Amino acid sequence: MPDANQDCLFCKILAGDIPADIIFESDTAIAFRDINAQAPTHVVIIPRKHIATINDIGEADQVIVGSLYLAASAIARDEGIAEVGYRVVMNCNAAAGQTVFHIHLHLLGGRALGWPPG
Ligand code: 5GP
Ligand code: ZN
Repeated sequence: MPDANQDCLFCKILAGDIPADIIFESDTAIAFRDINAQAPTHVVIIPRKHIATINDIGEADQVIVGSLYLAASAIARDEGIAEVGYRVVMNCNAAAGQTVFHIHLHLLGGRALGWPPG
């Protein structure tokens, strides 16, 4: 697979080497349920292209990154949380809690979400 990083957990999920509950697939992105869900709906949305952090997003990646948000709204509709509300968040690097270095949107919903996050 082009762009794949051999040491990357999410590239392994993309390759089918690690199982995941995949609920959305497009040309540019896939989404699966988080293994350690923090809300009734907690979905991880990732680009097919390996991009380590927000800091590594290039000009040429704008359509790919935009597609993550289109995936989020489609999944939120499917999950029945679009109207009541949900949160989409992407952590960048250690201080923000990023643990998997392949960019991903967290889609969280199905309960009231406090602000600001911790
Ligand atoms: P981060 O902390 O990098 O923002 O988010 C990584 C997310 O990936 C975490 O919420 C974590 O629970 C989730 N995660 C880590 N390993 C796996 C896995 O093997 N399968 C799934 N489905 N989610 C995972
Ligand atoms: Zn990767």
